[in-house]
Amino acid sequence: MLAPMAADPITIFRARRILTMNPSRPAATHVAVRDGRILGAGALDELRGWGAHTLDERFAEQVLMPGLVEGHSHLMAGSLWHYTYCGYFDLRDPDGRLWAGAPTLDAVVAQLQRASAGGADDAPIVGWGFDPIYFDGRRCTRHDLDRVSATRPVGVLHASGHILNVNTAALQRAGFLRSGIDHPAFPLGDDGLPTGELKGPEAMLPVLDHVGLNRSFLSGDEFGIRAFGKLCVRAGVTTATDLAATLADAEVDTQLAITGEASYPVRLVPLLRLIGLKPAEAVARAVALRERSTERLSLGRIKVVADGSIQGFSARLRWPGYFNGARNGLWYTAPEAMSECYALALQHGVQVHTHTNGDEATDLALDCMTQALAAQSAPDHRFTLQHVQLADAAQFRRMKALGLCVNLFANHHFYWGDQHRAITVGPERAERMNACATALREGVPLAIHSDAPITPLAPLFTAWCAVNRRTASGHVLGAAERIGVADALRAITLGAAYTLKLDGEIGSIECGKRADFCVLEDDPTTVDPAALKDVRVWGTVQGGRVFPAA
Ligand SMILES: [Zn+2]
Repeated sequence: MLAPMAADPITIFRARRILTMNPSRPAATHVAVRDGRILGAGALDELRGWGAHTLDERFAEQVLMPGLVEGHSHLMAGSLWHYTYCGYFDLRDPDGRLWAGAPTLDAVVAQLQRASAGGADDAPIVGWGFDPIYFDGRRCTRHDLDRVSATRPVGVLHASGHILNVNTAALQRAGFLRSGIDHPAFPLGDDGLPTGELKGPEAMLPVLDHVGLNRSFLSGDEFGIRAFGKLCVRAGVTTATDLAATLADAEVDTQLAITGEASYPVRLVPLLRLIGLKPAEAVARAVALRERSTERLSLGRIKVVADGSIQGFSARLRWPGYFNGARNGLWYTAPEAMSECYALALQHGVQVHTHTNGDEATDLALDCMTQALAAQSAPDHRFTLQHVQLADAAQFRRMKALGLCVNLFANHHFYWGDQHRAITVGPERAERMNACATALREGVPLAIHSDAPITPLAPLFTAWCAVNRRTASGHVLGAAERIGVADALRAITLGAAYTLKLDGEIGSIECGKRADFCVLEDDPTTVDPAALKDVRVWGTVQGGRVFPAA
C-alpha cells in the first residue's frame, strides 16, 4: 500500500471584503488557496473543512476582487520605456515615477533634445506616446524633428501606434527622401517630398529599423517583459494580452523563460499578428504555438488589423466620413486576406481578434465573418472585435447574430473624446463611440480596454471611463452609453476573460479557479462612481503568489 501523500499546504486569506464575481456567492470574507488554485471562498468556518491550513491575515484591511484581466494591451507598454515619453498627459513608468506630459510640439522637441544629449553621432533618437491632435491641428513634419538632430535619425511613434514621424536623416536612410512617391501613407510637402509622417505599417516598417525601433520593441525584449509585469502589478492586473505579437521562435523562448520564473507576476496572452504572414501561415503557426502554452503563457490566437486610428485619420469611415473633411483612412489588411484568415481559423479552432476602428472597417469584418461562417459553422468561436469604436446599434445586432464578442476602447473618451466631437467624427457619432450600454442591451459579450501603451494600463480607470464617459475637458460624452459600476467591473474581469476563452479558469473568485486576486485599499462597489479611478491598488495575488505594488 502507498503511504498517503503529504497534502499541499493550504492558505486561507482573510480580507475586509471579497468581491467574488461569482453570481451564486457574490461576497465573502475568506478565500482558501492550495497549489495556486481556489479551494473556496466563504466564511472561515466553512473553509476550515478543507483541513489543516495557515490563516494569512495580511489583507484583513483590504478588499479582494478577481485579478483584473486586460483584454487589449501590448508588451510594448513595457519596452517603450527604453525610449523618451512624448505624450501630452502625465504618465507613471513601471517603477511608479511620474513623467510630465509635453503640452506643445516645441515641448516635445525640447524633451527629445534633452534625451539626445551625449548620444553617439549616429545613434537614433526615439520618442513615443506622441499625439499632434492636441496641438491645434498642427501636424509634425521632418523639419520639426530636424531641430532635434540634423544628422542622427529621429523617430517619434504616435500614441495610436499607427503613425510614425521621422526627421530628414531617417527618411534619407530609409530611401524615402525622394519625389514621385504617390501613396496615401506618405503625405507630401509643398516641395513634393514626404513630410516625414508615415501612416500605417507599409510606410512605417521599412523605417523602424533606421530609427532603432526594431522588432524587439513589438514582442517585448527581456527588459520590456519585466517592465510590463511591474505595470500589471501596479494596476491590479493578473492576466494581460499582447495583442499584436510577432512571436518568432526566439521571442517565444524568451517569453516562456521569463513567465516561467517563480517571481513573474502575470499570465501573458500574446496574439500572433497577421501582418507580414499569409493567412495559411498564420493559422498553422497559431496551431503550433498553442501546443507550447503554459500556465503563464497562453498561445494560439491570431490578431487581424482592418484599419488605422480615428484620431490619426487612418481609420476607414462610412459615409459621410470625417467631420473635418479629412480623406478616408487606410485598409491595413486586404479584405481577401481577412476572409481567408477567418475561414481557415474557424476550420482549425483558432480564435481571431480583429481590430476595427471606423464603421466601414467594422462592416468589412462583419461581411468577412458572415462569409466565413457560411462556409464553416463553428459554435462558440468567440471571435472578438477589438476597439470597434464607431459601431452603431445595427452593427452590434449583426455581431450578436454572428456570435462575436466586443472589446470596446472605453478610455478613448477621456483621451480623445473632445477631439472626436470637434474634429474627427462630430458631436452625434462621438456620443455613440464605444457604446458599452448598446453592447450590453443587444447581448454582445463585453470587455473594455486600455490598449496600453496607447492609453495607460489601469482597468479601474477604464471602468471609470465606461461608467462616467468624461472627456479630458470634463464634458460627459454620450451619457446614454454609460454603464453601471457592476457591469464595468464585470467587463474588466469575467468579460475580458470570456473574450479569451479563459473565463472557466479566471475572472471570478470561486472553487476551482486560479488564485488570482486584485488587492485593493478601497471597495470599488461602495466608493462614489465618479471616484472609481481613484480606488487604490495594493498589488496582486497571482496563482497564489503575493505581489505588492510598492
Ligand atoms: Zn492595440
